Amino acid sequence: METLPCHDFDFTDGVNSQDGSQPEAWGRLFPLGSSFVAMDLTADEYTFGRGENCDVAFSSQAAKTHQCFQAYSKVHFKLIRNKTTTGTHTFLEDLSSNGTFVNGDKVGKGKRHVLNNNDEISLAVKQNKAYVFMDLNASEDSHLPKELVEKYTLTRVLGRGACGEVRLAFAKGSCEKFACKIISKKKFSVGGKTPVNLTSQVMGEVNILKALKHPCIIRIEDVVDTPEMLYIVLELVEGGELFDKVVAIDKYDEATGKLLFFQMATAIKYLHDQGITHRDLKPENILLATDDLETLIKVTDFGLSKFVDAGSMMKTFCGTPTYLAPEILLTAGSGTYTKAIDCWSLGVILFIMLSGYPPFSDERKDMDLPKQIMGGHFSFPKQYWSEVSDTAVDLIKQMMIVDPKKRITFADVLNHPWLKDDGMRTKAMALMYPDTDGMAPPKLPVAKRKATEGDEEPTRKRKSSKDD
Ligand code: ADP
Ligand code: MG
Repeated sequence: METLPCHDFDFTDGVNSQDGSQPEAWGRLFPLGSSFVAMDLTADEYTFGRGENCDVAFSSQAAKTHQCFQAYSKVHFKLIRNKTTTGTHTFLEDLSSNGTFVNGDKVGKGKRHVLNNNDEISLAVKQNKAYVFMDLNASEDSHLPKELVEKYTLTRVLGRGACGEVRLAFAKGSCEKFACKIISKKKFSVGGKTPVNLTSQVMGEVNILKALKHPCIIRIEDVVDTPEMLYIVLELVEGGELFDKVVAIDKYDEATGKLLFFQMATAIKYLHDQGITHRDLKPENILLATDDLETLIKVTDFGLSKFVDAGSMMKTFCGTPTYLAPEILLTAGSGTYTKAIDCWSLGVILFIMLSGYPPFSDERKDMDLPKQIMGGHFSFPKQYWSEVSDTAVDLIKQMMIVDPKKRITFADVLNHPWLKDDGMRTKAMALMYPDTDGMAPPKLPVAKRKATEGDEEPTRKRKSSKDD
C-alpha cells in the first residue's frame, strides 16, 4: 500500500504544541493524492498553488511531475479562517481557472465555499483529489477510544453497511491510509436479546480473521474493542464496490469478468479451506483495488455476519433476497447451511457481471422472487447472452443448482473448463502476487496462526455456519 509523504510530520495530539511556542491548530489537511503533504492549520489564511510565493507551494518533484501540474494556477485556492456572526468558519476561495472542487462540486473562480469537517478538496479536475479537511473543533474524535486516536485519525465516511459505517483513517506519523469499520455492539442484538459473551465471541472471530492471509481478502490491521463499540482497522481498498462498477460499465466483457471471478473463487476457496463460510457474498462486498477494469479484488465483510445473523438475515428477508441461496429461503433462515450457500451467491454475482442484470426479478408477473429462487427459475435469453460462451453459462448453471448437495464446490469451480485459461491465470497471479512475479508463496493455502491466540480451531468451529 502506498504510504503518503508526511514530511516528518508527527500528529502527536490534537494541538501542535502545549508550550505556547506555536499557535494552536484549528484544522488539519490530510493528503489524498501522493503529491500533497499533510499539514496542521494554525494561521488565519493560507494560499495554495503552483507559484513559489504560496504558503503551500506545489513544488515537490512528485507535484511537478503529476499529470495535473500544468493545470494548477499560480495561486489555486485560499483557505480562510473567519470569525462571523454565526461563529468561526473556514472558507475555501477558488482562485483558479480550472477550478477547485469540494466533494466533487466546482467552487468556481472568485467564489467561496464554507468548508466542513471531512470535506474533500480536488484540484483542476474533480478526480484529482488533494486533501481531506479536518475541522479540529468539529471532529468527533472525542467519542473515540484513546487506543484508537493514539494511532489513527479518522476522517470521512467511505461506505455504510449492515452493522455500521466505514471511515477513512490515517495512521499518525506515517499517514498510511486505512479503512476503519465502526460497529455498534448494540446492533448485534435483535429483538432486545443480547447474546451472552458477545465480546469474547466477536474477538474470537476477529482473531480468526486476523490470521487469514490472502491477497483477495481484506487484511485486518488492528482492532480496538470497547464495551459498546468495535473498531476494526482494515487495509484500505480504493477502487470502490464491484456493484457500482457493474452499474457504471453496464456489464463486464467475458475476459475481464473471468479475471475478477477467478480471484473471487480463489479467495472463497481459501476461506472454505479454513472452515469459514462467508454467507454474505454480494457485489457490495467485493471491493476493487483500483479504478482499472483489470484489477485486484478484495472480498470484505466476511465472518462477522455471524454476529448480525438474525439481523442481517431478517434484513435480507425484508429486502431483496437476490443473492440468497434457495435453501435459506426454504427454511426461512432457520436451517443449517453449508458453505454451498457461498457458491450460489457467487454464481448470482457471475450472472450479473456477465449480463448486467440479476437472474431473478421482482417485476416478473407469474412468480414472486422467493419462488423464482427456490425453484431455480432463471434463464439465459439470447438477446443478452449471445456474446457469452457456453462454458461460462455452464459454470453459472452448476453454481446455481438449487439442491446444495448437487451444487458444484469451489474446488471444482476452480477446475471448471471456463477457468482453464493460462493467459487469465497469469494475469490474475501477477495482480495477486506483484512482488513475486506472479508466483504464489509456497505455503499459501494455510493461514499462519499464532499459537498464543487461544481461539478455537476455525475448521471445527465453523463446520456448519448457522448453528455456531
Ligand atoms: P457491513 O458489514 O457493514 O456491510 P462492509 O465491510 O461491507 O460492512 O463495509 C461497508 C462499505 O464500506 C463497503 O461496501 C465499502 O463501500 C466500504 N468499505 C468497507 N471496507 C472497506 C475498505 N477496506 N476499504 C474501502 N472501503 C471499504
Ligand atoms: Mg457489506
